[in-house]
Amino acid sequence: MKSPVVPALLVLCGTAFTAPPLEPPKLRLDGSARPLRYVVDLIIVPDRDTFQGTVDIDVDVRTPSTIIWLNAIGLAVTEASFHPESGPALPAKTVPGGDQFTGFSFDRDVSGKGTLHVAYQGKISRNSSAGIFQLKEDRDWYVYSQFEPTDARRAFPCFDEPGFKVPWQITLHVPRDDMALSNTPVQSQSKEPNGMKAVRFKTSPPLPSYLVALAVGRFDAVDAGHVGATPVRVIVPHGKGAQAAYARTAIPQLLKLLEDYFGTPFPYEKLDSVVMPVSDFAMENAGLITYAESSLLADPARETIEHKRELAGICAHEMSHQWFGDLVTTAWWSDTWLNEGFATWMERKIPGEWQPEWHLDVAKVNARHGAMRQDELASARAILQPIVSNDDIANAFDGITYEKGAAVIEMFERWIGPEKFRTGVQLYLKQHAWGNATAHDFESAMSSVAGQDIAPMFSTFLDQPGVPEISVALKCGAKPVLTLAQKRSLPIGSRAKPQTWQIPVCVAYEAGGAVHHQCTVLADTQADMELAEAQTCPSWFLPDDGEAGYYQVAYDGALLKIVLDDRGAHLSVAERVGVLGDVDLLLGAGEIQAGVALALVPQFSKDPAPQLVQAAANIARLLKSESVSADLRRKGAQFIRREFGERAMALGWLPKPGDSDDTRLLRQKLVPFVASVGEQKDLIQEAQALAHDWLNKRQTVPPEMLGPLLQVAAEFGDRDLFNLLRTAAIQARDHNLREELLDALGSFRNAGLVAASLDLLLSKDFDSRESFYPLLFGPLGHAETRDVPFEFVKQHLNPLLQRIPREAGEDYAAALPTVGGGFCDARRRDELESFFGDRVKDYTGGQRALAQTLEGIDLCIAARKTLTPELTEFLNGVTEPRP
Ligand SMILES: [Zn+2]
Repeated sequence: MKSPVVPALLVLCGTAFTAPPLEPPKLRLDGSARPLRYVVDLIIVPDRDTFQGTVDIDVDVRTPSTIIWLNAIGLAVTEASFHPESGPALPAKTVPGGDQFTGFSFDRDVSGKGTLHVAYQGKISRNSSAGIFQLKEDRDWYVYSQFEPTDARRAFPCFDEPGFKVPWQITLHVPRDDMALSNTPVQSQSKEPNGMKAVRFKTSPPLPSYLVALAVGRFDAVDAGHVGATPVRVIVPHGKGAQAAYARTAIPQLLKLLEDYFGTPFPYEKLDSVVMPVSDFAMENAGLITYAESSLLADPARETIEHKRELAGICAHEMSHQWFGDLVTTAWWSDTWLNEGFATWMERKIPGEWQPEWHLDVAKVNARHGAMRQDELASARAILQPIVSNDDIANAFDGITYEKGAAVIEMFERWIGPEKFRTGVQLYLKQHAWGNATAHDFESAMSSVAGQDIAPMFSTFLDQPGVPEISVALKCGAKPVLTLAQKRSLPIGSRAKPQTWQIPVCVAYEAGGAVHHQCTVLADTQADMELAEAQTCPSWFLPDDGEAGYYQVAYDGALLKIVLDDRGAHLSVAERVGVLGDVDLLLGAGEIQAGVALALVPQFSKDPAPQLVQAAANIARLLKSESVSADLRRKGAQFIRREFGERAMALGWLPKPGDSDDTRLLRQKLVPFVASVGEQKDLIQEAQALAHDWLNKRQTVPPEMLGPLLQVAAEFGDRDLFNLLRTAAIQARDHNLREELLDALGSFRNAGLVAASLDLLLSKDFDSRESFYPLLFGPLGHAETRDVPFEFVKQHLNPLLQRIPREAGEDYAAALPTVGGGFCDARRRDELESFFGDRVKDYTGGQRALAQTLEGIDLCIAARKTLTPELTEFLNGVTEPRP
């Protein structure tokens, strides 16, 4: 938190000094006035597009001034006044303060404690999910709020920064048949005229504005019992209670596990989990978590293991924020990574302990590799970055924050040890409960339990972007020694600068019949690590024990032989997936011969573990990439059919009695892969027949196969299928189903049908929040349709911009430059840059998206130069699969 700005002159001469009328703040409030408590009163009718409100803010004006600046967007103030603790009230005039602030000015100085009263009107948005907004489910409108990071200011004038953490007392006036919810339990309810009622909520514990929340509508409440003293409920749109069956059993169990981990009870008086009819969304509002319907609800007959796993992950993430983020709030958005990285780490840790058969350790390794792909770019940002604009606040919620943050936390947990690490988390929460803290405070707590200062190591991962790459050489003399050397991992053609880290490296090895684990810090470019427990050459070793390090290992043929001895039988599935993931990244860096990497595919394509088959398939995907000349891609498909086809055919699209969970999981991934990427004709035809049967007769398809099946059918489908999918999507009442149908509509490869699906972006048939991503970016998945979305955006930019959400915290326009994400040539790169170069300045977060897309194209061009000859040689050796 920033301290109040006190002019030096004032301190020196000590005289009363009235600041002249001030300019509005630039980004942050100056702290000269601070909130102590809010009383908020709102009239909300879900089908209206405006609301009325009053807010009474107890403030402490520390520097006498004729003006108090607050954050406010789009609020029409009708009346405002300041009520000092003693003396008469002062009327206030509003002063425009740009697009983020409103000033309240008085004809004389105000100072000390008092109450600022403001009456106003605001908007209930129908096309964005920022501030207070409405969504329709069936025939009913529901109102929700989403304030993080900077949209509470759309609901009430306020001190909209995370450092201002104070109690809130909220009253909502709503139609009598509606349910009203906020962060705390209802304190009282009373009837009002015109079919309305007033619902007054208990005063909250200290909360920053971004965690305040409300929801209004014809909800049903599903009781999920109590955890300790905390009542737990799932709040669903009317009539959807049966779909909360899994949520109501999972949430209390996960909550209990979180209480155990944090060593302290749930911090708030109740926990409601509220469903919104949107996709991919969740927010950790204290005591009133909001979730996308697709995450939280499922028809029990259509519930899949994947959905259960996703639900548990998202719930664990949001619930862990209740401690880590809500009870202790980071002081400013520069530390968003700590909040989000930690919660992302917990979303696999806690459900992984709860249901070990879900293999969330594998998911963690895959997510780390995903983060590394982003982080290798020269345009990647450091986790820790100064925030100088609202753009930076929005940018702080990206993959680097979530997944690199989680991976770095994972690495330090391994280094410190899980038990000590947990003690450190508990210490941090205890020291800062109900207040604010920084990443520095977190490091201090961890250093004190670790018995050494971890900050210097930590900061090399926080303050600079990039992925360390460690090469390893084994020398077997009297004492076996590993020689470790580090450099920055860079994709082929990268212009990013080299750098080094202080890397906590842990290795596992087998010697004398036992497995040993050993750690060191690689602080220099090169260091020797003597294997303390080995008297002779180890029979195998793994340079990243548990695959928990945020570094990649520079595997070559010789090292792979040692690590993957006997196909890595001594390693866990997650560890083997980690090694194959590193190999995949090294391919992109040009550091491993394509032939060496592809030789691993036959070793793992038939493995019993579906996760390893997937990892092998990821490597094989290279054979259909831009680095393969168009005439040879047919051979790439052949190779995929040869390696994976037999198994995919045996699995088929439909389950067989007695299939294990692993078999179902493998079918869901492998069959569409062989059909789509391997272009296996029988599987394609079967998909089309099944899709038509489902669309025409609703013939049963297992829920986890419906989405992949419809997508493959669409890829090779015709106008008739397009029309059937479109009609089904318009008619779909179920949000999850609509999502699957939209994904299919975005999967066509036929040029005319791609154009038709893009046109749907401008039609009123779908909410753009649902259709934007699947329809606009779906065509990037195929070489033949990659150019089409950019052409569409060029021709229809203005109508498109009018239809998509444009609020700062949720500016869909920022994603527009990524329509060029599939390009791999200089001409279209330049076109993309000249079209978006100036325009992205108006899209919050758009400049970074454009820079990353352009860099991605440059790298693709460079990779093609290096890889094409190697892949040509490999593919020319591929023979036809057996009939
Ligand atoms: Zn989060």
